[in-house]
Amino acid sequence: MKHVVIVGPQGAGKGTQATRLAARFGLLHLSTGDIFRELMRGDSDLAEEVRAYVDRGELVPDELTAKVLFARLDDLAAKSQATGALFDGYPRNEAQAQVLDETISRRGEELAAVVHLDVALDVLRARIAGRAAEERRSDDTPEALERRLRIYFEETQPLIERWRARGLVVDINGDQSANDVAADIVRDVGHALARPARSHH
Ligand code: AMP
Repeated sequence: MKHVVIVGPQGAGKGTQATRLAARFGLLHLSTGDIFRELMRGDSDLAEEVRAYVDRGELVPDELTAKVLFARLDDLAAKSQATGALFDGYPRNEAQAQVLDETISRRGEELAAVVHLDVALDVLRARIAGRAAEERRSDDTPEALERRLRIYFEETQPLIERWRARGLVVDINGDQSANDVAADIVRDVGHALARPARSHH
């Protein structure tokens, strides 16, 4: 399987673009945020545990996140002919990036591209405020929003340079209209997925 990661801060339009990208290339869409929100609709102990982190805008512990995520990947992959997955919202820190690399290589699969949605911070803040009014997510309190943005810039964004050194990063200008962003993504990811698999060692 050839996998793709999509990365960008809250408010970059990542959810919308991820849905379109996965549909366009027949990838399994794995959004950790969506998986957790679905889980939190139940009232299991696991749901309670996850809710405590999500509502504060903190990261759910890495081990729990990986367990839930890769179980979902196996589950979806078993039921489909998909050629790969789109990881949306994962990895978010160095430890998760390592787990992803190890898991992909253990499975004999490949990370083919990392889509980086880049949006100016002032644009983000305006969009996030608009979305908070519309969606009423339990983690859209000002404190949780600030925390999520800070985690993005401190822990997630630095991962991009490592992927860039491996030639995986597709930079996309997220300040454009949703349609223009989608067109740029399709063009550049199409190239990346068409490349023959690279050998890593
Ligand atoms: P999102 O919809 O991607 O913004 O995710 C919503 C919330 O789910 C985050 O603020 C975290 O609490 C949790 N979450 C999502 N993805 C991860 C991840 N990769 N690692 C840890 N927590 C996550």
